[in-house]
Amino acid sequence: MQSSNLKILSADWVIPVKGDPIPGGAVAIESGRIRFAGPSQEAAALFPGARTTRLPGKTVLPGLVNAHCHLDNCFLADKLSLSPEETFFDWIAKVISEQARHSLETKKQAALHGISQLIKSGTAAVGDITHDPFTVLALEEAGLEAVFFHEAIGFLSEEAERIHEEKLEAITALKKTSKSEHFISPHSPYSVSRDLLEKIASRRSRVSFHLAESRDEVEFLKEGRPKMEAILKSMGKWDPHWKPPGISPVRYFNEIGLLHPKAVAVHMAWVEERDYPVLEQAKPNICLCIRSNERLRNGLPPVHDYLGMGMNLCLGTDGLGSNDDLSILNEMRYVKKRFPDLKDEAIVRMGTMGGAAALGLEEKFGALEPGKSSRLAVVDSGENAGDPYSFLVNKTPCLFHPGRSR
Ligand SMILES: [Zn+2]
Repeated sequence: MQSSNLKILSADWVIPVKGDPIPGGAVAIESGRIRFAGPSQEAAALFPGARTTRLPGKTVLPGLVNAHCHLDNCFLADKLSLSPEETFFDWIAKVISEQARHSLETKKQAALHGISQLIKSGTAAVGDITHDPFTVLALEEAGLEAVFFHEAIGFLSEEAERIHEEKLEAITALKKTSKSEHFISPHSPYSVSRDLLEKIASRRSRVSFHLAESRDEVEFLKEGRPKMEAILKSMGKWDPHWKPPGISPVRYFNEIGLLHPKAVAVHMAWVEERDYPVLEQAKPNICLCIRSNERLRNGLPPVHDYLGMGMNLCLGTDGLGSNDDLSILNEMRYVKKRFPDLKDEAIVRMGTMGGAAALGLEEKFGALEPGKSSRLAVVDSGENAGDPYSFLVNKTPCLFHPGRSR
């Protein structure tokens, strides 16, 4: 079996994610797809004469999946902080204020910088929350796979129809040139009217939203919260007829029909035990953004309980307004730091297979197996001779990406 187009990468370790790590492993790739992942000798026997690149001191794993980021918010890097007396809704007010202060050009340049961070940190696929076509064009030009969630925000019921239609029109226009998947998605329970939430839910499409992120959000839904009312009033978007639904964020979104296996519920830090049966029944994907939660003092999600319930967990960096960088490897390492008794392998699965499944990209990403994308993450593992999963989530490897391997 020979092909001039076929190339073999051999490394100290290959981590297929599906299956055990392979010492002295190899990945054979051709035309952007994996043909084989396994021991180097087997690759050499299967593809005699193929070009082989040796990567001594390196570990190869599938390209990482950032299931939740905001490229059009990269301009917020290093601009936002919370004083001790401030809470999450104060941070939201600061985001809104900063968004109005910066030009589109500044935002574009910051997004391009964010994309270079994604590439350098071994990312293969992204779930991007977007408001503007420039992130769509830029991500596609960079050759990254992306699923775009066009974010709908609107607390006034009378605006629900217009906002829904505008988002659908924007998606239809983009689809003429974009090869990516596009979905309309509500921002959160505190910024979107029930009417608009119901319109989006009725589509039963893939969807992504911030849910159960903060104590402020829980209190807003249960009893109303003057801080958010003031923010919405200042924008002329407060609905004087609005009444708190009086239930948890999880129950509220489930009641509306937004929790299902194609939903990506992001954060999920403020979930009550009595919400668990709802989650077990609805089976949404849960996207952890642990560094963002800590930065905004929102507490930590019950990760062990989610794993115990068999929920699909994935990782996101969220935007640079609440994180240091867009690296999923750094996110994995932070998950390990905050949940030290989690299995290393489980954390790596969150950043690969978990993310691919949450975005509906499991046919192409998340594991090294024939037919899947050849976008790989290559980690400098030096003389590491131990467990490669442990090395990945416990050490500080330096990443490089071999580019679009063909
Ligand atoms: Zn977010």
